[in-house]
Amino acid sequence: MYYPEPIAKLIDGFMKLPGIGPKTAARLAFFVLSMKEDDVLEIAKALVNAKRNLVYCSVCQNITDTDPCRICSDTSRDKSVICVVQEPKDLIAMERTREYNGYYHVLHGAISPMEGIGPEDIRISELLRRLEDEEVKELILATNPNIEGEATAMYISRLVKPFGIRVTRIAHGLPVGGDLEYADEVTISKALEGRREL
Ligand SMILES: [Zn+2]
Repeated sequence: MYYPEPIAKLIDGFMKLPGIGPKTAARLAFFVLSMKEDDVLEIAKALVNAKRNLVYCSVCQNITDTDPCRICSDTSRDKSVICVVQEPKDLIAMERTREYNGYYHVLHGAISPMEGIGPEDIRISELLRRLEDEEVKELILATNPNIEGEATAMYISRLVKPFGIRVTRIAHGLPVGGDLEYADEVTISKALEGRREL
């Protein structure tokens, strides 16, 4: 179908986002045209700002606008525990429970031989470095309860054992094959409570 170039470009842009096909992209593009210019500018600025001003926390690897991030800078938290999650949104899910008061480590993915993602492609070496000089006594592995998440938890567990650190895995109150980010607070709290030794 023929669209004037500015609209075609906008549609192409939306189609780069996950889960957006040509139809939805066209619908969004035409919706933008109907919006107030100020609102459109605000979204455009937010997009650019998010991309330019967010960095990875040099400690926990979470995305942040200050380095170290707010959680790593919070000295009231329990420095003897690190909870390892796959994605920043999993950290947010854990924080929502208000049950956990330790620190985090964000891997940015999980080991997946099928997709060609190895241990060196996610932030495991950064985690090991933290274990060398921080007073960590327990590592809670909160990777997703699916094949990749389990494989990643087992891999980290084997690496960490020599450090003499307690390694636990969150319990399977979580739906198997599900993602942490979609679990409700009660389920996550229960999974955290029922964690077992690895
Ligand atoms: Zn941090």
